[in-house]
Amino acid sequence: MSISKTKYIFVTGGVTSSLGKGIISASLGKLLTERGYSVTIQKLDPYINIDPGTMNPYEHGECFVTDDGAETDLDLGHYERFLNNRTSQANNVTTGRIYQTVIQKERKGDYLGKTVQIIPHITDEIKRRIKLLSETEKFDFIITEIGGTVGDIEALPYIEAVRQLKWELEDNALFIHLTLVPYLAAAGELKTKPTQHSVKTLLEAGIQPDILVCRTEKSLTNDLRRKIAQFCNVDRDAVIESIDANSIYEVPILMQNEGLDKVVLKKLNLRFTGEVKLKNWRKFLHEIKNPNQEITIGLTGKYIELKDAYKSITEAIIHAGSVNSCKVNVKWIDAEKINNKNVANNLKNLSGVIVAPGFGDRGIEGKISTIKYIRENEIPFFGICLGMQSAVIEYSRNVLGLSDANSTEMNTKTSAPVIDLINEQKEVSEKGGTMRLGAYKCEIKDGTRSFLAYKTNIISERHRHRYEFNNEYRINLEKAGLKIAGINTKNNLVEIIEIPTHPWFVGVQFHPEYKSTVENPHPLFCGFIQACISNNN
Ligand code: GLN
Repeated sequence: MSISKTKYIFVTGGVTSSLGKGIISASLGKLLTERGYSVTIQKLDPYINIDPGTMNPYEHGECFVTDDGAETDLDLGHYERFLNNRTSQANNVTTGRIYQTVIQKERKGDYLGKTVQIIPHITDEIKRRIKLLSETEKFDFIITEIGGTVGDIEALPYIEAVRQLKWELEDNALFIHLTLVPYLAAAGELKTKPTQHSVKTLLEAGIQPDILVCRTEKSLTNDLRRKIAQFCNVDRDAVIESIDANSIYEVPILMQNEGLDKVVLKKLNLRFTGEVKLKNWRKFLHEIKNPNQEITIGLTGKYIELKDAYKSITEAIIHAGSVNSCKVNVKWIDAEKINNKNVANNLKNLSGVIVAPGFGDRGIEGKISTIKYIRENEIPFFGICLGMQSAVIEYSRNVLGLSDANSTEMNTKTSAPVIDLINEQKEVSEKGGTMRLGAYKCEIKDGTRSFLAYKTNIISERHRHRYEFNNEYRINLEKAGLKIAGINTKNNLVEIIEIPTHPWFVGVQFHPEYKSTVENPHPLFCGFIQACISNNN
């Protein structure tokens, strides 16, 4: 199914942040894709950073990386996981990037002597970025999620830009506004006033929302829905309840039950041809709700109190669990607290361990102690990026006998730099966007655990790191039993290491978690979870 003119859906949020705009956008996208429409989702972020690549995970959670090497907001991960399609640089735009483009144009003299202003120059650039998505590929729907909350100073140019776009696009655009309907326990009531106020704020900016999605912890009564509709000028069937769910993966079903896709189609003058079945999605949900077995694995990292820092990893674990009809509990292990003495106790009863990506030396020795223990005790191990680098350091120290082995990221003076910068990285001085980023091909050796998982020799995976396996140590490490299971043949870089004598010991320089989706769970995560299940039985 395809429609002649691209339809634009703008998603705004009111009352508070963290209402789940990303999940609602992804759920609506999923419902529309299931109807055969082509859909892409874009996020506009109102901060001045060019991208979140330079932000601490404490500020921003995980930085998601696209095939084309963009460092983006973690919501793009949800878009890819729900829609099972790829996003790109154009799917995430920040205020920093908008201003950078406008200022560069001003320096080139492109504005021909005019005074450069927020309106029209910044708003025009925002509009250009929204429409840019349909220039490279034809989409039936472009869903644009506007970060932040209406009323924020930062979001104003975005709100004005989409107001203008709606005026230009007429019937081919609509607004969805997410709000909160809080429950006041003392009054025993759900309250609609914050919703009314946030719609008023939107109205002041010239925007009348077409659909309201009301986040709530208790079901909205018919009376309450009618009241919201009446006070906010929306149709009664355009008041959609978004009740707290146990899993984000239930939200597409909840939105379908509430008729979100139906009302979107109606408002955009498209025919509603009955409910979509969501067969695969429901099967996936059934598996995660009714697993045949349960295991617990460890995730060793340094942002333990901040689970969003490892969002794609925890989602990839859920996807792989469903394939194996297994509920996978994750025990978070703070790498900074682990040493050779307490490691056994901390890893007790775990069926396998993932050692997470990371930057800087905080927690690195704990990661190395963890890997030593799991290597010696034959516990399934999956090392991702810094996790793989830590495994190389551990092997070099404890098997090869290079007691000073390290990454030059942690110790510039190490006598055995088994992980080091390659020459092109040595010349880099700027921090933003200068790592090895995005998709690279990797060739996998036959007969390895990785080959068994992928069932193919050539793969493409996404990267985000500066340091690499140092090839000077390759022959000695191989002689000592470390298997180089995958390499980038173009640059001769080691991408996968394994220990063939161990039940499942795989370290990857790339980030497989970015490519795991509900419909295509990642082969390495599936392989790892299978190994954990075998270890458990
Ligand atoms: N800090 C390491 C590097 O830059 C690993 C990065 C990561 O784990 N993503 O190479």
